[in-house]
Amino acid sequence: MQVILVGPPGSGKGTQAKSISVKYHIPHISTGDMFRYHLKNNTPVGLEAKTFMDKGLLVPDYLTNQMVDLRLQEPDAKGGFLLDGFPRNLEQARFLDDLLKQQGRRLEHVLWIDVEDKIIIERLSGRRVCNKCGNISHIDHLQSNRCSCGGTYVTRVDDTLEVISDRLKVYHDQTEPIVAYYQAQGKVRVIDGSLAEVDVNKQIYEVLSK
Ligand code: ADP
Repeated sequence: MQVILVGPPGSGKGTQAKSISVKYHIPHISTGDMFRYHLKNNTPVGLEAKTFMDKGLLVPDYLTNQMVDLRLQEPDAKGGFLLDGFPRNLEQARFLDDLLKQQGRRLEHVLWIDVEDKIIIERLSGRRVCNKCGNISHIDHLQSNRCSCGGTYVTRVDDTLEVISDRLKVYHDQTEPIVAYYQAQGKVRVIDGSLAEVDVNKQIYEVLSK
């Protein structure tokens, strides 16, 4: 099964992706996580991506596409995958289509998790991530900044109000057009991402089980 998740930052793509990946035994491939890994390990890719990520801008396509190309060639991705955060513009969507065509496969579902900006801003500005285990929470649900694993809940560097609004602008200008691109291929399934996590999950499973 080849699936991609499209949605604004904070739409819950990462959380949903984790459970879909377990249920359907397909690798969860998040380009955001991959870039953060490179950043943490000071790799050449990380050093180049940093300036863009800090500003909430898209990392250049040549770097992103190459990273995804290599990842999709790994053995665990041969039987299917779930892409989270890629493609994020039309150039990347066309690149992915060509790549899959060369490999003799194609995308089955494009899950579009739709959430309005107001909700996104509330979610992201209160989002806290554990610096040790990566668990995600919200300031409204935390008694202290200490995680049960012993780590500390911190704000992601790109979750400041200014960068959130830049990321939303990038989403509307560059990522939303790919929804129309995939709609023309009849692949888009709209998911209401403003609901609670379990209800978003239910809608996704309904689509994938068909
Ligand atoms: P978000 O919470 O904004 O959806 P991600 O964790 O998916 O964020 O990505 C964080 C950052 O990594 C993005 O703001 C961008 O700089 C970079 N990034 C992730 N995926 C891509 C992509 N497909 N193309 C270009 N840049 C990307």
